[in-house]
Amino acid sequence: MKKLLFSLLTLSMALVITGCKDGNKDGKRLLMVTEATFPPYEYRDDNGDISGIDPEIIREVARRNNMDVVIEDMKFNSVIAAVQTGKADVAASGITVTEERKQMVDFTIPYVSAAQVILVKKGAVIARVDDIRGKRVGVQHGTTGDTYVTEKYQEPERFDNAALVVAALNAGKIDAAVLDDAPAKVFLQENPGLKKLDEPLTEEFYAFAISKERKDLLEMFNRTMQEMRADGTLDEIIKRNMEKEISPPVNREDLPWWGKVKYDFRKNFIAGKRYMYLARGFVITLEVAGASVVLGVLIGFLIAIIRSTADQTGKLKFADMLCKVYLTVIRGTPVVVQLLIIYFVIFGAFDVDKVLVAILAFGLNSGAYVAEIIRGGIMSIDRGQMEAGRSLGLSYNKTMALVIVPQALKNVLPALGNEFIVLLKETSVAGFIALEDLTKAGDIIRSQTYNAFMPLVAVALVYLAVVMLFSYLLTIVEKRLKKNE
Ligand code: GLN
Repeated sequence: MKKLLFSLLTLSMALVITGCKDGNKDGKRLLMVTEATFPPYEYRDDNGDISGIDPEIIREVARRNNMDVVIEDMKFNSVIAAVQTGKADVAASGITVTEERKQMVDFTIPYVSAAQVILVKKGAVIARVDDIRGKRVGVQHGTTGDTYVTEKYQEPERFDNAALVVAALNAGKIDAAVLDDAPAKVFLQENPGLKKLDEPLTEEFYAFAISKERKDLLEMFNRTMQEMRADGTLDEIIKRNMEKEISPPVNREDLPWWGKVKYDFRKNFIAGKRYMYLARGFVITLEVAGASVVLGVLIGFLIAIIRSTADQTGKLKFADMLCKVYLTVIRGTPVVVQLLIIYFVIFGAFDVDKVLVAILAFGLNSGAYVAEIIRGGIMSIDRGQMEAGRSLGLSYNKTMALVIVPQALKNVLPALGNEFIVLLKETSVAGFIALEDLTKAGDIIRSQTYNAFMPLVAVALVYLAVVMLFSYLLTIVEKRLKKNE
């Protein structure tokens, strides 16, 4: 038992150490975080690369200071936390300077002024800002629009990004969409059925967010941005991007229904090689689910043995208590929260590979459930089996290993298979730490094509296919085991 524990420990240490990259201490790499669903400030272009005003400014600032930019795409409501915890150097995501945010991070000098505006369907009854009172208003979660509507009017409906808010408005799920003016203009080009109210909701400024502990970096940004303002580069970048037609409006509406299906299919999967997101996401999902099920079974097995030994022999009391704490905490909290804690709190200060973080989080989580499944299996074996083993002269450990556990494992195989199925689908929350798994791949496509149906159905079908294949394999294994009886 001690050996097993020890090797598990070394294994996890090795995982952690190999997962630590060298960080950005040398100052040559500038890690920028953003949510690339906010055209013209940041969006995925037709090649799937992140383009727009923010990446261009950041790249120019970096170039003038001999640095390389790495961009990471995550949820808007995580970008500030990412710089605050040192995960990233700069957040550039059309971020409005507000008093609350100033408490958490420093802002560079502002580079552009902006406003929150309201979009409605043409012909809607909402004509003035105050008309949104009591109506279904959609906002992007965590934005200034969200804060404003919540404080001045009522609880809005919160979506993950501006594209989803506009999709909800188009689908008639909300009466008005509140978003920033420049993205609103881009969305209007693509959705001729919508219009913008003249009166803006707020006046604001955008700036880049930097950790309060990186005054040197802040100073570098301000100095370079001032230079870029003086020599006209800043205005040139903004103006050029504002005028660029980001995705040309196409008259899909004129096509017959199968033409629409073909058009959507091309747009969602073929154009810009978007199917590659799904392919890469699929590999990551399998990697995470596969490795965490192994980790989960190892942990679960260890715990089940400790707990049933404590139960039957009265030994290992302390280890048993630790196991109980682990089971209670893990089963008592949502897996997303555990994932976020592991990523932002436990590994907050290191640059750890996200796949590893996910494996650790899902493995630890699954371990708790597997432990109880296996323990149930061990308990289900008739007590007489243990007595028989012992009276044949086998030790407790030997009886456990040779008599009890093999029978128990066979009994719990269906439940273990089920656990893998659950786990595979649970990994779909990995996108919370910006890991591009299968579900996140669908989200990325959705944010580029503003089309919910095709990417979501494709993602669902892939999960379904894996689960069906796995269930089939499981029945074969079960049949084999039965034969062996
Ligand atoms: N400017 C808004 C804010 O800072 C929204 C930014 C965004 O969605 N990227 O809250």
